[in-house]
Amino acid sequence: MTDLAAPRRRLARPPAHLADLTVDERRAAVTELGMPAFRAEQISRAYFTRLADPVGIVDAMTDVPVADRAALAAALAPEVLSEVRHLTCDDGWTVKSLWRAHDGNFVESVVMRYPNRATVCVSSQVGCGMACPFCATGQGGLTRNMSAAEIVEQVVAAARLLRSGAAGEPMRLSNVVFMGMGEPLANYRPFMTALRALLAPSPSGLGLSARGITVSSVGLVPAIRRFLGEKIPVTLAVSLHAPDDELRDSLVPVNLRFPISEVMDVIGEYASTTGRRVSIEYALIRDVNDQLDRAHLLGRLLRGTRTHVNLIPLDPTPGSKWDASSPEQQQRFVDTVASYRVPVTVRDTRGREIDGACGQLAAAARSSSPADSGDSSSDS
Ligand code: SAH
Repeated sequence: MTDLAAPRRRLARPPAHLADLTVDERRAAVTELGMPAFRAEQISRAYFTRLADPVGIVDAMTDVPVADRAALAAALAPEVLSEVRHLTCDDGWTVKSLWRAHDGNFVESVVMRYPNRATVCVSSQVGCGMACPFCATGQGGLTRNMSAAEIVEQVVAAARLLRSGAAGEPMRLSNVVFMGMGEPLANYRPFMTALRALLAPSPSGLGLSARGITVSSVGLVPAIRRFLGEKIPVTLAVSLHAPDDELRDSLVPVNLRFPISEVMDVIGEYASTTGRRVSIEYALIRDVNDQLDRAHLLGRLLRGTRTHVNLIPLDPTPGSKWDASSPEQQQRFVDTVASYRVPVTVRDTRGREIDGACGQLAAAARSSSPADSGDSSSDS
């Protein structure tokens, strides 16, 4: 394990990496090194298809002359995130990684295996500026945006882990959810560059299907509309958390700028343009937003729209005054919303015992010293 309390160096930006670049920019970068442009495809194949890590990539470029490999790797595939910690739970079906960036900041990602699919939940910013009071990341504010390569590397690392067999039977990564730290649409360009690299077929990208990708937004209406214009049919999830502006103003402060009516308008546009149901996230908080009159309001708000409600039992942050709803109240809430013929499911709570949700592990790392950083989970 590396030293968690190492000083944070303030470098202007993460090292340049091929995942920050378009295909044309990669070719230009390789040409600048005095190499033929097709070396860009060769190193991309080593990274995205062979899933080589920063140490292994030199050997993985089997189709590149040995003399060129080190320079190519140093220029285009340096290490952008190093794994500080690796925790497993749910009998090894959930693996959480804590990453340190070049400047000493921490982010986290979680791999969740299911019998026939595997999902990675990734971070898109160090911290978050949206200030939702129930969210561990929101409480710390925004430190900085993540680069495209930092976002992509979490996904490539997940694919690598799943393929290696180190986390159960080898399998392919099928799903990516942007539900880790940060607001992806507030880091628009790097997020889009990363998303394109996830979707691009080999050798330029990971070749994932848009159907397997979910982008979760707090509800930045203009950014959602801009994203809709990109015509990339991923699933959109919107963090609603309350059916009325009065309560949403306090749970999701960005509601003061983009109220529920505007959020519902853009959700309607997204659903009708993509033909995909939009997922409505609703963290159930005891006595705050779990009353049955709010369930009725939610049902009336969503009735007849192309949406699906994803109820998330609140994962209380340390020191929080809030708690999850009782199972009985949760069930009554589900039944009430469902009575409006609105599809509703309750999200599984993978990884809770390893600070699995919502920035809690990175928050703990920030405040811990090497002496007190031990914990009961299985460290790598
Ligand atoms: N910025 C994006 C991604 C946030 S994380 C967004 O706002 O959608 C993904 C989801 O987890 C969001 O719906 C977020 O509101 C929710 N969440 C954050 N903290 C939580 C907590 N303590 N318990 C339950 N859900 C939480």
